[in-house]
Amino acid sequence: MEKNGLLRKGKIMNKRMNLIDMHCDTLTRLLEEKKGQNLQNTDCSISIPGMEKAGTLAQFFACFTCLGDYMETDGYEGCYRQALDMIALMEGQLKEFPEALALSRSYGEIMENHSRGKISAILTIEESGILNGKLERLDTLYEKGVRLMTLMWNYENCIGHPNSRDGEIMEKGLKEFGIQAVERMGELGMIVDVSHASDGTFRDILEYAESPVMASHSNCRALCSHPRNLSDDMIRALAEKGGIAGLNFCGAFLGTAKDSKIEEMTAHLLHMIQVGGREFPAIGTDFDGIEEVHMDIPRVDGMEKLWEALKKKGISENQLDLIWSGNALRVLQALG
Ligand SMILES: [Zn+2]
Repeated sequence: MEKNGLLRKGKIMNKRMNLIDMHCDTLTRLLEEKKGQNLQNTDCSISIPGMEKAGTLAQFFACFTCLGDYMETDGYEGCYRQALDMIALMEGQLKEFPEALALSRSYGEIMENHSRGKISAILTIEESGILNGKLERLDTLYEKGVRLMTLMWNYENCIGHPNSRDGEIMEKGLKEFGIQAVERMGELGMIVDVSHASDGTFRDILEYAESPVMASHSNCRALCSHPRNLSDDMIRALAEKGGIAGLNFCGAFLGTAKDSKIEEMTAHLLHMIQVGGREFPAIGTDFDGIEEVHMDIPRVDGMEKLWEALKKKGISENQLDLIWSGNALRVLQALG
């Protein structure tokens, strides 16, 4: 893409670089399990030194909260507080490492950060049940820099229904409030993320969303029959809307539970290209959100291995550029 051509004139010249990873759960780790660590000094899969080595252009940081943790207390209200804590944690990291990392709220800011040699951090919410029926919370989150909402996690929420092996739940879609939320996201300029949604919710999102839609971290159901993955029909419908999907490194969604294999990653990407076209696939690792026994690529600094494996499969450098960042940039640019 032309935009990638521009990027290569920047500080980072290596074509393997300019990575955009659309999903990680590093903030959850830092907030809960690794309190003494930070993005510079951490054993997390995503770190500033790791991203620098990988040539990361932008990293989406999910503020993920689990209803299960608040089931006995105040449910989604507790989840909302935790999401705000994660945003505050990110704000602290940005203040601590201003030379390496900067918040990005738009395509223009990604380019600006890049020209200054900084990695862009994009804030996202994973589990929009935190809205808890309050539309104004979308405005608050937008003001804080959130530019993508993963509408569902694995629980029913005020928005709609999640992915499920129960066919009945899988067919249920957005609720009335969910439709309002999706419309408000369109007005504000927030990406609607269908990852974790039921098939019914997926279909409703495509019908109602005015803003760009993506599956930030989902693979192909044709290769791995998991409700978290996209069927070929879903891939085609999403691609038709100009949407994209980020390859998820979780073994259970690739094909072999607890084992994250490059061979399966390349198969999913090739399938995405075959069904959704060359402008469909992107990267959404789910780093720090998956607990595998073995990972061929355990950290972001190993992303080059995937690049090389895809090249061996005959994928052109132009297509690789689209997967690494071009397709994600197109969606971010559409956001304004
Ligand atoms: Zn997820």
